[in-house]
Amino acid sequence: MSVTNVNVTNAIHTVPGLRIGARWVAETAAGSVPVHDPASGAVIGAMPVAGPAEVDAAAAAAAAAFAGWKRRTPLERFQVITAATALLRQRAAAIAAVLTREQGKPLAEAERELRLAADIIDFLAEEAKRLAARGVPPRTAGVASQTVLRVPVGPVAAFTPWNFPANLPARKIGAALAAGCSVVIRPDERTPFTCVEIVRAFVDAGLPDGVLNLVAGPPAPISAALVADDRIAKLSFTGSVAVGRALGELAARHGKRYTAELGGHAPAIVCADADAAAVAALAVAAKYRNAGQVCASPIRFLVQRRRYAEFAAAFTAGARALRVGPGAEPGTQMGPLVDAARVQQMRSFIDDALAHGGRLVCGGERLARPGAFFAPTVLEAVPAAARVQREEPFGPIAVLDAFDDLDEAIARANALPYGLAAYAFTNDLRAATKLADALDAGMVGINHFGVSQPETPFGGVKASGVGHESGLEGLLACTEVKLVSVAA
Ligand code: NAD
Repeated sequence: MSVTNVNVTNAIHTVPGLRIGARWVAETAAGSVPVHDPASGAVIGAMPVAGPAEVDAAAAAAAAAFAGWKRRTPLERFQVITAATALLRQRAAAIAAVLTREQGKPLAEAERELRLAADIIDFLAEEAKRLAARGVPPRTAGVASQTVLRVPVGPVAAFTPWNFPANLPARKIGAALAAGCSVVIRPDERTPFTCVEIVRAFVDAGLPDGVLNLVAGPPAPISAALVADDRIAKLSFTGSVAVGRALGELAARHGKRYTAELGGHAPAIVCADADAAAVAALAVAAKYRNAGQVCASPIRFLVQRRRYAEFAAAFTAGARALRVGPGAEPGTQMGPLVDAARVQQMRSFIDDALAHGGRLVCGGERLARPGAFFAPTVLEAVPAAARVQREEPFGPIAVLDAFDDLDEAIARANALPYGLAAYAFTNDLRAATKLADALDAGMVGINHFGVSQPETPFGGVKASGVGHESGLEGLLACTEVKLVSVAA
């Protein structure tokens, strides 16, 4: 990330700046970075960069505000938090336009994300009102009570990527604030404006100063400073396995709590008894949503051999029919990738798959127009050694394959080090039960792809992460257990 002083004369979006304590900081000694529209490459605005002084001030503000925020009752916190989500809903169309401009996804998807972000935050604030303490009967005479409490973990440093600029900050901010924690959030350098708008809604709703702080700039120095800072209790990250592991090591070194939602490589098993055409229609929508830049996106479609041709034909027809274009254009079903680097990544995954003997069924190329557009792509017969079969492409690439026996499909589904989401389609109760049990993933969807909901935990096993976000589990991840034992 190159830091410069950006002079944006035609900015379509201006931000108030970083949020530190009670102030918006529009200018810093570290300068600012441009933010681009991936549909055109045009600069749409600039984001100020936090240097060491701003990062330190944000940690100080979060620590100071934590003392007061943790003493508010869950109901008081709920009232402020839901005032902010009411503003988010009021402003959903305007913020969605910003989200689409900086990230690329179709406007309708962006607005759905905004409204879902508000729902995620509301659920966490609601759930915090009924975080129950647990009484444990004493074993020693004279001890009157032993109560296990859930208390806020402390100031949280949160790092969010670019693929869901509203939803991912919502999970981290919502859980922390509802639990009584303060936050320093660092949104992705490509998509900071949506997060600024979320923070602005909290400020406008009357959240006490310093409870929610926002910094921006080069990620490694910011995370290194915040993890090492004694005032920060917990680190929460979403992104790649490589960065997630490096941050996990850093968190362990400094004795910090850590939650990480990392990549996946989701299999989708389609059994012969399923309605292949209907599953293909669902699969196209799930695969190419947000241009495949979704950690729970299905990638490896394993279809029972006697329905393979039918499924492949329906899936490919669906992929070919998708309308790809700027997210702001009416009717667009798939927008651009987030930047040109991801377009290069897609090309290299495909070249590698073809070099290994895989077959390109459709797509495979960037679109001949300005912006980071890549065609919805279908590959088949790709050997297991190819990169796309092992590494997360994080883009609009589907890999189709046939299987004969359910045990074989399960073994192939579980063969990778990832374990975020897995999907299976069957009308056979016995097969469904077996698949739900055997698929090694934090989230298993049987006969649908909708495993990410505000009310349910989101997280992976194996290399796909540590802990959970969303649902009750997401809230608990921002709490610490405290035992109070009272002798009479
Ligand atoms: P990345 O892990 O390099 O970056 C993800 C986010 O982490 C970005 O916002 C980045 O600025 C930030 N980051 C990078 N280094 C950091 C550090 N030292 N401290 C704190 N934050 C840091 O991933 P990417 O290059 O954006 O995408 C590459 C791959 O990452 C994708 O192919 C995909 O596998 C994975 N990814 C997963 C998710 C997800 O939702 N789980 C989101 C984005 C990317």
